[in-house]
Amino acid sequence: FTLNNDDLVTLKNLGSGNSGTVCKILHVPTQKTMAKKTIHIDLKTVIQTQIIRELRILHECQSPYIIEFYGAFLNTNNTIVICMEYCNCGSLDKILPLCDDKQFPLYVLKKLAYSILSGLSYLYTTHKIIHRDIKPSNVLMTHKGEFKLCDFGVSRELTNSLAMADTFVGTSTYMSPERIQGLNYGVKSDVWSMGLMLIELANGVPVWSDDEAGQTGGPEGILDLLQRIVNETPPTLTGKINNITKQKFDPLLCQFIDSSLIKDDSLRKSPRELLDDKDGFLKGVEEGVFEKDVKSWAKKIRKLHKEKTEDK
Ligand code: ATP
Ligand code: MG
Repeated sequence: FTLNNDDLVTLKNLGSGNSGTVCKILHVPTQKTMAKKTIHIDLKTVIQTQIIRELRILHECQSPYIIEFYGAFLNTNNTIVICMEYCNCGSLDKILPLCDDKQFPLYVLKKLAYSILSGLSYLYTTHKIIHRDIKPSNVLMTHKGEFKLCDFGVSRELTNSLAMADTFVGTSTYMSPERIQGLNYGVKSDVWSMGLMLIELANGVPVWSDDEAGQTGGPEGILDLLQRIVNETPPTLTGKINNITKQKFDPLLCQFIDSSLIKDDSLRKSPRELLDDKDGFLKGVEEGVFEKDVKSWAKKIRKLHKEKTEDK
């Protein structure tokens, strides 16, 4: 089916980021609930048309680890609209505060890491796509405990336009050292971002806090922080983070994170290589060993999410 704005009824706002706003909507003809992202940047018509054309490849991205794409169109008020699968537990940044002790349980981290790597490996091997923006708000969860990636860089034109609209869009503290330095980067860059995210979800606090980005939080602070990511030894799960005292963590998790956060990308493993390590941290995930626990945990999160957001 072709999507048309007249067929969409907005149900509620799900949040907004640097580039746009996301709403939960109903597609009336199919009665399907969807998530609609509206991108608010002023662009020439040729560029917009090019972006819509480039987004079409999303129709071919079909994987249980990737958000399903329903279509994109240009709205009358010159905005780009992208419609995708709605995930009813939201993104990981919204889930973290709902977790006991603000920490993801170990079995969830295992399934999550497996899902992210499977999604990255699928995008790269099948479509030569690098995600480029792995962070908690771009990984979504369903009530069945499935994890799915969204907001990956399929459209070169869209990525360029967003970068030009605001210098700090696309600059995030999840960026790998090679990317910060402006060197060539590949799929291993996403592995770095995943590693940082896992520390945050295991610990309950971001690795690089606003505090560290300078008291003012301004651009100088961010540039200074990016400089440190390049120069300092990589973060670890057991190291002191935001002055929170050490805690006992699973040794395999620590090892897995350390191998994701190797600064030299030629020594860092690719998603495929990490998945192929059958005796490490991910052991048992593929066989469904943790499935029951993840499912009941997701059910609990869904209930808390529902109460918090009054989602039906
Ligand atoms: P940034 O702009 O820095 O990437 P962001 O990822 O939070 O930040 P958006 O991509 O605009 O910004 O998303 C806004 C919020 O909408 C997300 O934080 C997420 O919680 C929610 N969201 C996005 N896509 C979906 C979806 N498909 N299903 C449910 N919630 C979603
Ligand atoms: Mg996003």
